[in-house]
Amino acid sequence: MAEPLLFEMSRPERKGVPVPQSDVPEQALPAELCRDSLPLPEVAERDVVKHFTRLSQLNYGIDLGLYPLGSCTMKYNPRINEDAARQPGFAMIHPYQPAETVQGALELLYELQGYLAEISGFDAVTLQPAAGAHGELTGILVVRAYHESRGDSARTKVIVPDSAHGTNPATAAMAGYQVITVPSNARGNVDLEALRKVVGPDTAAMMITNPNTLGLYDEGASELVEIIHEAGGLVYNDGANFNAILGIVKPGEIGFDIMHYNVHKTFSTPHGGGGPGAGPVGVKAHLARFLPTPTVVKDETDAGPTYRLEPVPDSIGKLHAFWGNFGVLVRAYTYIIANGDTGLRAVSEHAVLNANYIRAKLSDVYAVPIDRINMHECLLSGSRQKKLGVRTLDIAKRLIDKGFYPPTVYFPLIIDEALLIEPTETETVETLDSFIAAMREIAREAEEQPEEVKSAPHHTPVRRLDEATAARRPNLRWQPPEQAAD
Ligand SMILES: *Cc1c(COP(=O)(O)O)cnc(C)c1O
Repeated sequence: MAEPLLFEMSRPERKGVPVPQSDVPEQALPAELCRDSLPLPEVAERDVVKHFTRLSQLNYGIDLGLYPLGSCTMKYNPRINEDAARQPGFAMIHPYQPAETVQGALELLYELQGYLAEISGFDAVTLQPAAGAHGELTGILVVRAYHESRGDSARTKVIVPDSAHGTNPATAAMAGYQVITVPSNARGNVDLEALRKVVGPDTAAMMITNPNTLGLYDEGASELVEIIHEAGGLVYNDGANFNAILGIVKPGEIGFDIMHYNVHKTFSTPHGGGGPGAGPVGVKAHLARFLPTPTVVKDETDAGPTYRLEPVPDSIGKLHAFWGNFGVLVRAYTYIIANGDTGLRAVSEHAVLNANYIRAKLSDVYAVPIDRINMHECLLSGSRQKKLGVRTLDIAKRLIDKGFYPPTVYFPLIIDEALLIEPTETETVETLDSFIAAMREIAREAEEQPEEVKSAPHHTPVRRLDEATAARRPNLRWQPPEQAAD
């Protein structure tokens, strides 16, 4: 980066804002609150604008191009969502306002609860949880409340497949359960024979992601639900991959008892960088009384419908202040009504088509660990390239040079050199083709000039970061050279 950083632009006495002459008598500040030097940059407003604009241009975002981060559903965020969320009647209200002054907002929440329930086949929905993982915790606390309400204290175990997202076992453990892992079979489904061996009167629940993190629909889902139900357990569907089955499969109808939705994935509310998102949870009727409190209800009156917050009788409690992340929920609602029922089905059909297109066009150069029609994401492996000394991480870094955000790598953990690619439905065939071309080029480079791939990225402001140190001891602050000793 040739341009100087903000601090390097600093020149003595250069100012961004002229401070007017003081018209009050000068007062000495308490000496103990003052320091001798304060090394702030002395720069003009123009320098500040230049600095931050340049930083913003170093970002790669969903609005710049393909973001094929498998399991994350980084889809385009339609701008109409933003228009809706910025309506003053939504953006400027306060959660302490009396319900009669925020009827529109409550109506939106009520309708959204209903839409989510309808789309997924559940009876009741809470909008409170702030993310998928938070929804999982909500769901597992509901599981616990359900068993406790029946005086059943023997259920201490939650079963999780080995392909699970890390948040699943983490959630079960956090709620005090022992986590039992079941293997997947060669087709990428939960191994039902292995499952039968571990279920029993101590099974509180099974948590599965369906479609799973291998990008596959679990062909044994219905049977799995039966096995757990027969043992008296509940079945939790991690619905983060709902983008694959909108308008096609309703998990509630298959028999799942609980499911969370990642609205920031499936329903196009912006995410990345940590949120805010929302992770509503749907449950079957027999679990509705345990949901977080309050919920939004509708009363029919002579003057028309009115909406209010109502306490939930045997609630697990509150999972979020007030109504949850309201602005995110407005965006999800907007996306749902903008698409409508046939539109949502088309979303999934295109997401699945795009992911299969990529797999089909790359399967001669990258290994396909499980050769099946996939859902909204396709799983490849860099195992062939590994034999040439090129790791999947190198492939990911090389993609940055070619203008793409890399896919998810090394996840799911059970696949050697995994590359989990989720193009989403909003990308054009031209974009998919150029991504495919880049991936094919990298495969060729791995054979002909592997050093080129292993030393990537070549065109970024920083090269390879030490990711562990970057996460544990982030260096977020520029320091003058003489102070930057460590
Ligand atoms: C993203 C994801 C989660 C966690 O969702 P957050 O909103 O990031 O907390 C859980 N399970 C799966 C399968 C996911 O893809």
